[in-house]
Amino acid sequence: MTATAPREGQLWSRCGGCATLLYRKRLRRNLDVCPECGEHARLAAPERVAQLVDPGSFTPLPERAAEVDPIGFVDVLPYPHRLSAARAATGLEEAVLCGTATIGRHRCALAVMDFRFLGGSLGSAVGELITRAAERALAERLPLVLVTASGGARMQEGALSLMQMATVSQAVAGLREAGLLTVSVLTDPTYGGVAASFATNTDVVLAESGARMGFAGPRVIRQVTGRELPDGFQTAEFLLRHGQVDMVVPRHALRGRLVALLAAAHAGRHTSGGGGQEPPPRPERPADGAARPAPVAEVRDAWETVRLARHPGRPTTLDYLDTAFDGFVQLHGDRLGGDCPAVVGGLARLDGRHVMVIGHQKGHTTGELVARNFGMASPAGHRKALRLMRLAARLGLPVVTLVDTPGADPGVDAEEQGQAAAIAENILSLSVLPTPVVAVITGEGGSGGALALAVADRVLMLQHAVYSVISPEGCAAILWPDRGAAPQAARALRLTAPDLCRLGVVDDVVAEPAPGAHHDPEAAARLLREAVLAHLVPLLDVPRATLVRRRRQRFRRFGAARTGVRAGAR
Ligand SMILES: [Zn+2]
Repeated sequence: MTATAPREGQLWSRCGGCATLLYRKRLRRNLDVCPECGEHARLAAPERVAQLVDPGSFTPLPERAAEVDPIGFVDVLPYPHRLSAARAATGLEEAVLCGTATIGRHRCALAVMDFRFLGGSLGSAVGELITRAAERALAERLPLVLVTASGGARMQEGALSLMQMATVSQAVAGLREAGLLTVSVLTDPTYGGVAASFATNTDVVLAESGARMGFAGPRVIRQVTGRELPDGFQTAEFLLRHGQVDMVVPRHALRGRLVALLAAAHAGRHTSGGGGQEPPPRPERPADGAARPAPVAEVRDAWETVRLARHPGRPTTLDYLDTAFDGFVQLHGDRLGGDCPAVVGGLARLDGRHVMVIGHQKGHTTGELVARNFGMASPAGHRKALRLMRLAARLGLPVVTLVDTPGADPGVDAEEQGQAAAIAENILSLSVLPTPVVAVITGEGGSGGALALAVADRVLMLQHAVYSVISPEGCAAILWPDRGAAPQAARALRLTAPDLCRLGVVDDVVAEPAPGAHHDPEAAARLLREAVLAHLVPLLDVPRATLVRRRRQRFRRFGAARTGVRAGAR
């Protein structure tokens, strides 16, 4: 069990993790994290607030907790006695502290739970106070930050406490509809009704190091199943691996992470073209598959290009995030059970502009490639991408995708988990996503797995990338007598950037340093940044409805039919 943060007046306290006796002031300076073993002691709500917000910026909400005992509950003590005892012990009126504050000068509404108060249980006063905080956020158009610590619903209030899960969720939904960021910070422990509502239905879920979260507690699960639980069950790292949380953050880094998230949300609200009126129609590119002149580029054999596109030294998405972008905050998980390593994504800045970046991730060594499944996304990867696209749209942030995949994951698990539907949903969602989308094929654009990230307002392609309905090897195996015909298939498929530019599938070719991006990754990153900016910036002012209409037209023009002529007639 975790030790509770020391009270005033005690000079020494014993670490709950390693049992070291620690000087209280030293522990407090270290944010109540044991300097010896890293154990994060539980914090009281006022201490948590003090650690997270700008000094002196916290203003409590005016609402006070009402005196409630809705079902006249008595166990060995009447419920009102327990409430009085909790108030006396904590100095708080209830198990949550709500207010407004600034974090890194970004204003937000805040609700911080306190486990010392009846186990942080969710009663009707707690639910009402958190709802008021959310309503305050909505009224003032502020992000909402929730710090959770709870054993679950408060049994002393019966089914009325259960109802609070719905009450607070409704308030979170209101913020979601309004495009206001909601963030929860899971602290140890977060269980039951709190875990199954506002702790996890927010836009971004951070887990503090050492936090455990789940619906049912480990003791209950052990009793019911009669089985031992896996190592690290329900710990922050376990939750990250299983796609439940966006990141695990040590206490020292928590405030910085919140600042980065609030900054992105703030930028999104102030730069989005919003739901503005559509301007009068402007002449647009003809919709009938208009051919564009191919940009000047050296002509290479298609098979040679395929080999360059697959070069292990080619910069990956994480490389570009490190070089072409700044301040990457990686978000993890599909919230359904998985975090696919072949897809990475999160908030980043491109020349100072906040964007959501989502891309396939390969690797440079065999070990990295295996760990990333060679950049082949699982259904969990597609669902993570979808979650991040939708989050970007809600917050008014543009999306940049970096496509580099041989294709979707050809495996039994992927099929069982609904691979086809996951890809289909991304294609559909991207086609109507109300925010600018720029896709860049950086390496291999392999079939449907690539398209799941490439339905965009502008589709760019690196000079030596390829984009194809099937791999040359796959095509050769089906249509040629042998797989050795892959080079011929590569030529026949018209999969190079100049070819696809001519066909109108791709809008622009991004030059690479000779002889290829692998030779000078820094230069490749610079060229990619310039190209993305050149195409993204003009999209930022386009009203969202116009943007979506044009995107749909862009993809409609690839259809082929002839009006008024019967099939077969010439
Ligand atoms: Zn310790």
